[in-house]
Amino acid sequence: MHDLRVSVIDACNFRCGYCMPAENQYRFLRSHELLTVDEITRLVRLFVSLGVRKIRLTGGEPLLRKELPDIIRSLNRIDGIEDVALSTNGHHLAELAADLKAAGLQRITVSMDDLDEEGFAELSGVRADLNRVLTGVEEAVRVGLRPVKVNVVIRRGINEHAVLDLVNFARGEGYVVRFIEYMDVGTLNAWGMKDIVPSKEILATIQTRYELAPADPNYFGEVASRYLFSDGTGEIGFISSVTQPFCSQCTRARLSAYGSLYTCLFASEGVDLRGLLRHDASDEKILKTILDTWAARTDRYSEERAEMTSEEREKHKVEMYSIGG
Ligand code: SAM
Ligand code: SF4
Repeated sequence: MHDLRVSVIDACNFRCGYCMPAENQYRFLRSHELLTVDEITRLVRLFVSLGVRKIRLTGGEPLLRKELPDIIRSLNRIDGIEDVALSTNGHHLAELAADLKAAGLQRITVSMDDLDEEGFAELSGVRADLNRVLTGVEEAVRVGLRPVKVNVVIRRGINEHAVLDLVNFARGEGYVVRFIEYMDVGTLNAWGMKDIVPSKEILATIQTRYELAPADPNYFGEVASRYLFSDGTGEIGFISSVTQPFCSQCTRARLSAYGSLYTCLFASEGVDLRGLLRHDASDEKILKTILDTWAARTDRYSEERAEMTSEEREKHKVEMYSIGG
């Protein structure tokens, strides 16, 4: 266990079709249901004592959590953390980037699936304003939140046209694009194999324009396969959890906004750590619960997906916005 994803809120102001389709009604957690800053800090400290070195704050949309700078500041005081990063839709970045940097945030990943204003709003909901996101990312770079990564999900027949635009844009700005295969995470997005565009196909599209060379992972458990542009201007990555699952190398635990521990993005059930915290459990008791959960994990959903029936795939799965991507 090396990485911990901490969802700081389940609510979001966007409605990306693959995550929170706009036609659904959502009931978000009330503030007393969310882990507090102190609770997040205590749990993260315990995870770090077990070997976690990288923390990613996510959601829902983490910039909607008012105490986000406090959370970052507090996590930065924990010895042993090497990296605190943030995944965001970027909508509130322009106003918040400087505070986040001052609180100790190192870098950001911004999600962006199209570079056409109308297309962007169609993909991510009526409040999704591309120019606002772009301004936010510029401000993040200005205050030193670097390197910027851009997460892109390409869906068949929806935004395949955006691949080269996004690559050109990111190369020009010095950002690293990560193409994430569209996953059957949660239960709301009506995913089908026919909707995904395999990484290999996206790579082939990019190779029509650029020469690329495969690169080694930066560390064991890195989920993206990396490629470097042969002219030396940057890199791109592919997270191919559908066509090339990497369950056997997974070093990632997830803490939901309501304080449950999940050992897989596709899990149905988490283990309630918030209950332990709120019933005055000792550090030893919480550590034992985390260790027992991690040791007992058998999750390899992505490796088993191909053999599953659609009924098996449709069993209850936790939604991406409550445990973070
Ligand atoms: N709201 C923030 C954002 O959009 O970056 C953080 C949370 S979001 C759940 C984290 C990442 O999950 C985003 O990059 C998003 O594109 C990705 N994601 C959500 N649903 C997905 C799906 N069904 N398949 C692949 N990636 C997905
Ligand atoms: Fe919100 Fe991120 Fe999900 Fe889009 S992917 S709906 S921005 S949580």
